[in-house]
Amino acid sequence: MRGRATLLGTGTSHGVPMIGCACATCRSTDPRDRRLRPSIYIEVPDRVCILVDTATDLRQQMLTHEIARVDAVLFTHGHADHILGLDDVRRFNTIQGGPIPCYANAEAWEAIQRTFYYAFDGIPRLGGGIPQLIPHTIEGPVTVGGVNVVPVPLWHGRLPILGFRFGNFSYLTDCNAIPDESWTLIEGTEILVIDALRDEPHETHFTIADALAVVERLAPQRAYFTHMTHDLPHAATNARLPRGVELAYDGLVLDIEVVAS
Ligand SMILES: [Zn+2]
Ligand SMILES: [Zn+2]
Ligand SMILES: [Zn+2]
Repeated sequence: MRGRATLLGTGTSHGVPMIGCACATCRSTDPRDRRLRPSIYIEVPDRVCILVDTATDLRQQMLTHEIARVDAVLFTHGHADHILGLDDVRRFNTIQGGPIPCYANAEAWEAIQRTFYYAFDGIPRLGGGIPQLIPHTIEGPVTVGGVNVVPVPLWHGRLPILGFRFGNFSYLTDCNAIPDESWTLIEGTEILVIDALRDEPHETHFTIADALAVVERLAPQRAYFTHMTHDLPHAATNARLPRGVELAYDGLVLDIEVVAS
């Protein structure tokens, strides 16, 4: 079954340009050097629209791509850059007339429920709406709107987080290690989007070299790097990547093949 993945944000937690930075990437006029906070949107026609993470820039991402429907949200983890847009799903509650099912692991739920306490504590408040969510804790593959979603456990420093596989497409952001058991879950991935923060080593993210090593082992048809800092100017970095590997950019659309269930 055909689907589309739109990369809504491909930047690291600061975004690019970064506040108060005058480096060449931050001043670049190449639109591919403007990176919002990380999120993707999966559309499967006549079936389901899934948002992966509610990034800090969610509102701008929805407006830019004229997204008017979110049937479900999957969370990779509970870091600020991946959850801070959650309050804005209120619009989808209104448009769609109901709560939205959300999926995350236990660690991410802990962070989300602490950050957005007012959406979960059941205390009635005057005025203002709250996001209406139906929380699900992910413990294995799930069916979301008739589409098979395979969570892929990853390490993000010491934090266990989730990548997601949809058919021939795997999205592995915010990771610096793939546990042995997870390799079988991503085997056969044809289109890969993977964390590649920068060249310099980092305690919780893959570098370009690390991500290239994953690409070499997994051998997808195409690989795209995401969650980049301003250390990686788009054009110059792409020019040194091997064939079939490139930097993702905000607005990149990938045709994918999902599995109906
Ligand atoms: Zn992040
Ligand atoms: Zn900069
Ligand atoms: Zn993170």
